[in-house]
Amino acid sequence: MTVQKENILSLIDKLRNERLLCADEYKELLLCKDTDVLNYLHRQAQEVAVRRFGRRIFIRGLIEISNTCNNNCYYCGLRRENRNIARYRLSHDAILACCREGYLLGFRTFVLQGGEEDRGDGSWYVDLVADIRHRFPDCAITLSLGEKRRSLYQQLYNAGANRYLLRHETHHALHYRQLHPTSMRLEHRLQCLTRLKEIGYQTGTGIMVGSPRQTVDHLVEDILYIKKFQPAMIGIGPFIPHKDTPFAHEPAGSIETTLNLLSIFRLMHPATLIPATTALATLASDGRERGILAGANVVMPNLSPVAHRADYAIYDNKASLGAEAAEGLQLLTNKLAAIGYEIAYERGDYQPASE
Ligand code: SAH
Ligand code: SF4
Repeated sequence: MTVQKENILSLIDKLRNERLLCADEYKELLLCKDTDVLNYLHRQAQEVAVRRFGRRIFIRGLIEISNTCNNNCYYCGLRRENRNIARYRLSHDAILACCREGYLLGFRTFVLQGGEEDRGDGSWYVDLVADIRHRFPDCAITLSLGEKRRSLYQQLYNAGANRYLLRHETHHALHYRQLHPTSMRLEHRLQCLTRLKEIGYQTGTGIMVGSPRQTVDHLVEDILYIKKFQPAMIGIGPFIPHKDTPFAHEPAGSIETTLNLLSIFRLMHPATLIPATTALATLASDGRERGILAGANVVMPNLSPVAHRADYAIYDNKASLGAEAAEGLQLLTNKLAAIGYEIAYERGDYQPASE
């Protein structure tokens, strides 16, 4: 074995034992292309996840409540300036119906995700969350609705929301500028994340891997930020172009880099909830399974009304059927069984590691 290979393997052991490397060491790991070493990285991460959670995968029912968005992120098909999209907003009752269906299927977490928009003063969202909380007292409510005022985050929390997903997307100011118009500010996004955590939400952040102009140094910065922030959830998926965005002709992110990063996060954060994302499953037919075998412990099947799924196209060819669909839980069960895993039907809240 070459000295270099041995060095990287010992970095992986160090990461597993100490949960921390320095910036140069993360970079070395991210630049590594040796399949033996990367397989070792994934195996270590999988082992850490299994030790913590067993061979069990939490499921979250994803309800895409609206594809209407005031923002103009360059990467996303829901961006305001995309005119080539049929906009929808699910009604209060339609969302409750999704929850009811999900509950009967066995889901105990509902994730309400949507474009960033203000429905009036936000009280529409508060009433919705309060109603779901009242009707499904044993379920967790996760929100993924973008940047909001602190008072609204607080009201939503008080109404019964438990978790919030808001990816920071990149921690590098210039790179943030390359992904978003100037009306969106990295400082504000980070401030939102800090506020969410202060309020008491189990807060998730994350990035797209391979977003245009991303470098390995950016990824190292993201790792360092996530280490500092200590999120309850980490969402990482490959960037996938959407034909009606300024990034239509950019290449998709790499599945391999996504998996390597996922494993690094798992070794750094043994207790964190890390999904095998839909974007991974969209890029590769075995992407979900590969995510799990690299240390992921959550999947988020789609509970949205089937009639609207195609309209929630944040990127091209987004998977929303088969094992990505809530009604396809049997298929998901079979696919998990094939790699020796099973669905965990409980709420699966974040419990920080005590060890
Ligand atoms: N509006 C909310 C939630 C919807 S978007 C928000 O922005 O937070 C949810 C996530 O989809 C984003 O955080 C982004 O990381 C991801 N996403 C958007 N466009 C994407 C693309 N083209 N490829 C991969 N992921 C994308
Ligand atoms: Fe809107 Fe979120 Fe898409 Fe940005 S990523 S355009 S905020 S839906």
